[in-house]
Amino acid sequence: MKTYNEIKLAQELIRFPSVKTEDKGIMKFLSRRLSTIGFKCTIIKSKGTGPKPALNLYARFGKSKPHINFLGHTDVVANLNNWKISPFKAVVKNGYLNGRGSQDMKGGVACFISAISKFIKNKKFKGSISIIITADEETTGYGCPAVMKYLRRKGEKIDFSIVGEPSSNKSVGDEIRIGRRGSMNGIVTVYGRSGHSAFAGTYINPCTALAKIIAKLKSTSLDNGTKFMPPSNLEFTKMNVDNLSENVVPQSASAKFNVRFNSKHKSASLKKKLSKIINAVAKKEKCKTKIEYRVSGEAFYTKPNKEIYMVKKIVKKVTGNSAKLNCRGGTSDSRFLGSIPRLELGLRNTTIHMVDERSPISDLKKLTKIYYKILENYF
Ligand SMILES: [Zn+2]
Repeated sequence: MKTYNEIKLAQELIRFPSVKTEDKGIMKFLSRRLSTIGFKCTIIKSKGTGPKPALNLYARFGKSKPHINFLGHTDVVANLNNWKISPFKAVVKNGYLNGRGSQDMKGGVACFISAISKFIKNKKFKGSISIIITADEETTGYGCPAVMKYLRRKGEKIDFSIVGEPSSNKSVGDEIRIGRRGSMNGIVTVYGRSGHSAFAGTYINPCTALAKIIAKLKSTSLDNGTKFMPPSNLEFTKMNVDNLSENVVPQSASAKFNVRFNSKHKSASLKKKLSKIINAVAKKEKCKTKIEYRVSGEAFYTKPNKEIYMVKKIVKKVTGNSAKLNCRGGTSDSRFLGSIPRLELGLRNTTIHMVDERSPISDLKKLTKIYYKILENYF
């Protein structure tokens, strides 16, 4: 049986310029590589950013339980000008692998495929390994939900998932993500009654009401945090009053806000709570309101279980790091995994999305070793 070297595979992946949801043949390439070592591969289409659909991959080895999954993405962000070394050449120089996606996250994908290929060759085991590769993690995020829908239809059940996003910071394995905060945006518009500012009593000023709403929301504590997530926080990001005159009280005033919330809240109950506060203040000020919300993602969190502690122990053994379990960072495809217990552990995030993205070769080797040992211990 064939095995794949993580550095060589990462180079091959970087050479596909898969910016946005452009495929450029990368999923076919991965399917071939995975079929060779015994995976059954399915391409799942989802809506792309251009006219062509995005191609995502689900690959499974084995049929029985337990079922461990690795999740990654092959799309990369642009920001491709002024590189010292061409972003898609995948040049190895002075101990670094250079190129777009070397850290985020073709490097990580290469590490888990390499580890899996070696594990399948060396060990007999009972259970299944699957791989999900999405094509739009950096943009639209339709790929992972499309794969999850496919899995539900097929009755596929994943028991534990490792998301290979670059979670590490100063050294590989110093941080492991076990969840993410939720994010929600809101716009509150307050309606009063316009009038001449000289005639107090004839108008209702929505600016006054809006200022009081903002003050009230900012002084209300949403919670005091959880063991792994900080207290939820609401920030106003824009205020707007359309008014060209100095002596006219406006009809309406609006403000935008963003809330980062922990796992003590669901967006639905949080909306209710905020609307209640807003409307109570508005009512006192004799104003009407319109409140709109857009949810970017719910908070999620895997309570540290035996798999998470097992991974933490392996990281310690391979790197010497006592990994911090936390919920930092931006959103990732992990948010689409529903109730599947999971963690995020990958390369360092020191140059992701930047010009001259690169990863130390030693990091790729360490991460492959960690993934290999996770498989050894899982089965
Ligand atoms: Zn990523």
